[in-house]
Amino acid sequence: MPELPEVETMVRGVHPHIVGRKIRRVVQCPCECRPITLSPGFDEFAKRMRGTHFTAARRLAKRAVLDLSTGDSIVIEPRMTGLLLLADPPDPGHLRLEWQLEGSGEYSKLWFWDRRGLGTVRLLRSDELAELGATKLGPDALAMTAEAWQAACRATPRAIKVLLLDQRVAAGIGNLYASEILHRSGISPLQPANKLTRPRIARMQAAVIEVLEEAIACEGSTLGDATYRTALSINGTYQNRHRVYKKTDEQCPTCGKGAIVRIVQAQRSTFYCPKCQK
Ligand SMILES: [Zn+2]
Repeated sequence: MPELPEVETMVRGVHPHIVGRKIRRVVQCPCECRPITLSPGFDEFAKRMRGTHFTAARRLAKRAVLDLSTGDSIVIEPRMTGLLLLADPPDPGHLRLEWQLEGSGEYSKLWFWDRRGLGTVRLLRSDELAELGATKLGPDALAMTAEAWQAACRATPRAIKVLLLDQRVAAGIGNLYASEILHRSGISPLQPANKLTRPRIARMQAAVIEVLEEAIACEGSTLGDATYRTALSINGTYQNRHRVYKKTDEQCPTCGKGAIVRIVQAQRSTFYCPKCQK
């Protein structure tokens, strides 16, 4: 589930502790579960990292990017349960990769931890990373203007919830925040995108920024499975502000009249209030 706010929290958490630190060693942790996707294979992965140091940790849509002094970047897609951690992994059995850091600093190891193993870790050259951004991802959701949303909406009759999840339209929004954004906007997730008026799209664009920035300020959402944590292994708090996500049958906290319903769109759950989202 890590979406834009969670990945942003991860990279902000590790950045100050890894930048300038040389990589002493990379270790593949013993794990008996489904292996993560690692590319290239571990030997070459480790070889290209030897003697380099981290120059930045940043976010690309729902991916964490760790830049290296060689110009290569480690691109991590956490998918369902992946985490970047400096301390206290939830359990040692699902550690996948360990970077041992040289030099002084509070933390001497950086881990990639992934319970379900759906995450991917790829070492890319700068041209490969540029190609990924150019071919697979639209503008970052936080950078999308109202005009860009107008153009994207005009172009398709798809339901607005489905459009919000299309990473080629706007990168970074996932299933949880899409429901919260549409609730905040007062827009039904079933609305065909090309039927939305300009003022409603402008309101949605503002809600995208508000919801994502609030969630970043809260360091993301830690759901009932308690999997997501910050780089220092602390729970996020935005789950306490969710208005519709996984609130089926609860009274709508916004209008106080409707009950939250769950529907399925493009094989994903959507939560909304039929009374105040039209
Ligand atoms: Zn409502």
